[in-house]
Amino acid sequence: MSNNCIFCKIIGNEISSVSLYEDDDFKVIMDISPAAKGHAVLIPKKHFANLFEMDENTASKVFVVVAKVAKAIKEELNCDGLNILQNNGEAAGQTVFHFHIHFIPRYYKDSVDITWGHDRYGEGEAESIAEAIRARIV
Ligand code: 5GP
Ligand code: ZN
Repeated sequence: MSNNCIFCKIIGNEISSVSLYEDDDFKVIMDISPAAKGHAVLIPKKHFANLFEMDENTASKVFVVVAKVAKAIKEELNCDGLNILQNNGEAAGQTVFHFHIHFIPRYYKDSVDITWGHDRYGEGEAESIAEAIRARIV
């Protein structure tokens, strides 16, 4: 539990939420301010500010739950697609600093905007960036 963390308060039932799923490690709730109807967020019960702080045991369990919930959302809402989105750091759009994963139902003619432009690599640039990152993967 981290002081003044809205998601820790939701986990501790100090703040109410609409729950979709709960187990020993995670809770999935409806987002209070949805990008689309059915927008949900998965929250680990332990406080990690972001992915960089998450332990390997929790990380290894996350996508098992994501897949279960994603399939149920797709089945029930019959959406055309679903974005799984996870922001780390203010620069990446994170506003609640307790790790979470968004489930955003998508429809061909919706107005949800999750897009980016496309940069280009110079000669050998992708290879040298990859080499430097590879050396840090533990
Ligand atoms: P972020 O921008 O950090 O990736 O996403 C934070 C999300 O948490 C936002 O989509 C926001 O609507 C949602 N959120 C913030 N406060 C609450 C709350 O008190 N209850 C619920 N259910 N969602 C919240
Ligand atoms: Zn927290």
